[in-house]
Amino acid sequence: MTSNKHSNPSGINTKLAHCGNNPADYFGFVNPPVVHASTVLFPDAKTLKSENQRYTYGTHGTPTTDALCEAINMLEGAEKTVLVPSGLAAITVPLLGVLAQGDHALIADSVYGPTRRFANNMLRKMGVEVEYYDPTIGRAIETLMKPNTKVVFTESPGSNTFEIQDIPAISSVAHAHGAVVLMDNTWATPVNFKPLDHGVDISITAGTKYPAGHSDILIGFISANERTKRIVEDAHMFLGMSVSGDDAYNTLRSMRTMGIRLAHQSKTALALAQWLETMPQVAEVLYPALPSHKGHEIWKRDFKGASSLFSIVLKGGGEKQAHAFLNALKIFKLGYSWGGYESLAVEVHLEDRVFKHQYLGSLLRLQIGIEDFDDLKADLEQALIATKL
Ligand SMILES: *Cc1c(COP(=O)(O)O)cnc(C)c1O
Repeated sequence: MTSNKHSNPSGINTKLAHCGNNPADYFGFVNPPVVHASTVLFPDAKTLKSENQRYTYGTHGTPTTDALCEAINMLEGAEKTVLVPSGLAAITVPLLGVLAQGDHALIADSVYGPTRRFANNMLRKMGVEVEYYDPTIGRAIETLMKPNTKVVFTESPGSNTFEIQDIPAISSVAHAHGAVVLMDNTWATPVNFKPLDHGVDISITAGTKYPAGHSDILIGFISANERTKRIVEDAHMFLGMSVSGDDAYNTLRSMRTMGIRLAHQSKTALALAQWLETMPQVAEVLYPALPSHKGHEIWKRDFKGASSLFSIVLKGGGEKQAHAFLNALKIFKLGYSWGGYESLAVEVHLEDRVFKHQYLGSLLRLQIGIEDFDDLKADLEQALIATKL
């Protein structure tokens, strides 16, 4: 596709406003067309045989999916981005591409639950040696590297407990041992952390969260550097992954406002997190943007900003208090996923963690939407009172 006129803008909102759009390629319309396609026609037998034309079949890309891939490639600084039908597929596809029987995979203990389920079941069934490591291990990951270590999987901050990983340190050790580094970067998005700039080989985003932003699309992005480009391209094609034109179009449409939403939601989230830290019912707030957070210094060093998801620990509270809190919420709804416009709360369970950390009460995860601070604060305040802690 022709390079767009807005190449190399410096501001993130300028980039988000124009990325992936090449109006000259589609008669001047500012947005890309929504193409619904399996079949693409060829003009003659020779071209049919050589497949020497821009588009050949729906699963190999359309102008709509290309527009979204181009936008993400630019944000990630990647060599190649592919789209998959969910955030979870953005994790499983590159792992299947990189790993083979007999390989050793190091996986952060704080990964997204379904990543662990996939590793424990499918990877182990394939004959991959799966080992979980303390996410805060940093450079000491050196002690876990083996001659057959092929993958170091990271996620920072970790799901539900928000441990920050020293990604540059882990990446340099992994590379010295020839391993490929993958990172689930769903929390920060490439707006606030660019994994490939910090040594990661394959950057993973659940586009379902902030990029789609409205709790109505399931989509995943996999962005690869030069070293892993071919592996990602092949795994994507071999496994038959594709995304509909409508979902690709609507994701790109929502990404125009992603910077504004993230800035607004993370500002409200920080103000609420700071206030929650002062509340007598709250033992701890797990949010990397708080100076009290153990990973705050690394977060400040590496990240451009935060996002709108954090957890709180109810002081000495058990399930009864946690449920009283959740049931008392009115603006916050109870439901999984996050990164949308609306505030959500869930209870968190950590039974299958290898590195157990004792929290001083029950853990609740809050997703802060675009609603007003005062309304969210009042809702949380009356729910904290309802715990009778
Ligand atoms: C939600 C989530 C995913 C998976 O995204 P889906 O589109 O729901 O499959 C992956 N990683 C993290 C950290 C998530 O929170």
